Amino acid sequence: MPVSAAYRASTGHGELGSDFFDEVSAAKFLQTIIRYRNQRAAASVGLETLTDDEWITHFGRFEPLPGNLSKPLALRYHGHQFRVYNPDLGDGRGFLFAQLRDDQGRLLDLATKGSGQTPWSRSGDGRLTLKGGVREVLATSMLEALGVDTSKSFSLIETGEELVRGDEPSPTRSSVLVRLSHSHIRIGSFQRFAFLRQPENVAKLLDYTIKTYMPNLWRDEPSARAIAFLEEVCRRVARVGAQWMVAGFVHGVLNTDNTNVTGESFDYGPWRFVPTLEPNFTAAYFDETGLYAYGRQPDALFWNVTRLAECLLGIAEREPLEAALGVFAPALQDEFMRKMVWRLGLQPLDKESDSELVRAVWMFLAQSQMPFERFFFDWYGAAASETRAEQSPSKDIYASESFAPLRERLFAYSASPAANLNHAYFKRSEPCTMLIGEVEALWAPIAEKNDWSLFHAKLAAIDEMRDAFGQK
Ligand code: AMP
Ligand code: MG
Repeated sequence: MPVSAAYRASTGHGELGSDFFDEVSAAKFLQTIIRYRNQRAAASVGLETLTDDEWITHFGRFEPLPGNLSKPLALRYHGHQFRVYNPDLGDGRGFLFAQLRDDQGRLLDLATKGSGQTPWSRSGDGRLTLKGGVREVLATSMLEALGVDTSKSFSLIETGEELVRGDEPSPTRSSVLVRLSHSHIRIGSFQRFAFLRQPENVAKLLDYTIKTYMPNLWRDEPSARAIAFLEEVCRRVARVGAQWMVAGFVHGVLNTDNTNVTGESFDYGPWRFVPTLEPNFTAAYFDETGLYAYGRQPDALFWNVTRLAECLLGIAEREPLEAALGVFAPALQDEFMRKMVWRLGLQPLDKESDSELVRAVWMFLAQSQMPFERFFFDWYGAAASETRAEQSPSKDIYASESFAPLRERLFAYSASPAANLNHAYFKRSEPCTMLIGEVEALWAPIAEKNDWSLFHAKLAAIDEMRDAFGQK
């Protein structure tokens, strides 16, 4: 069946003009096997009714969706990579394929990773490894369940090519991923025009972004809207940074081209979840100095929004731009508190008690080095979980004197009315986690014998966790 009644095409990005993108064509793949089809995401944009053949037509062969972009657009951007400016970036293995409204009227992008070469590929093959695609599906599913504003993995299709990579046993299998994301306008999209000294295009991108994604920020005075925009980006990017910290997530590559101005996190390469609260825990093997280590993520994001502020210098004065950056730290702090209390399944008290509780939890996790996710699982709803916590492998720590003050603090709280300890998830003996060993263990049978059962079992476990945490 073709698209459903909820499908609403909307092609705003195309109207920005050719300074912003290049029309490209997808690679022709010999093979197209659906490995992941996100029906929940598809339903949010009216694409759940496609047959598998139609799905492949659009997300494996990239024939246009009805009324949508007639040609894919490889987006142009620059960026700071590990703090070094790189003007040789852009969509080198992906493109914007379609834009559509979701069930709340938001404009979303369907964009690819691994769909072939573009004018921005340089020496790259434009491809994505199957393992890379599988990893992105796992990361986005986990993050969504843990309450992080993330792009969704929409489709993963295996494409039957053999790729050579330095960081995977090669040749390795290939795939094309489609993600559903709330814009692909990166800080690096603004940086490119500032670098090329095209202030009119900085202004054009600014106005388009505000009108499309933040219409309530519109001000008649360009400098006023630049300030309002910077504040909003700071708020949103800070929020997602706080959400990663609470989820125990390390993105790994926080370059300015990987920071979306809508604040939604995206582009998952060498990500990891922390086993314990360890600020120096680093995800990418090539991040030798730990620049993007777990505990340095808020600083890295703040550095990135400061680069965005510089791009707006031609539109607004330095002083109010600097002042706007001041929105970042309190937004991060507020979201960190809010999400921690949510993760603990508690009803918030007052700001002071909540921040003391959260600080005490954080100190305990850092000092004890107990498994990060286990703590949230064991004490979900605080006192309401006491019997469960007594059966945990960490029960000795909980019985120790060092835990007593935190127990007292926790017990001052009631479980949130939304916390459902009767959910099947809390009957498990262990939380659903996604540590690197687990990722490798579910990849191995796929690589060795094309056995996808562990992958599907993991996705089912994540679904259960998402449901337990009341995420839609
Ligand atoms: P990433 O680290 O995935 O954010 O990518 C950084 C830059 O390298 C972007 O401009 C990508 O489009 C480009 N890139 C990464 N991998 C490839 C590839 N296999 N072929 C072409 N370009 C690539
Ligand atoms: Mg990227």
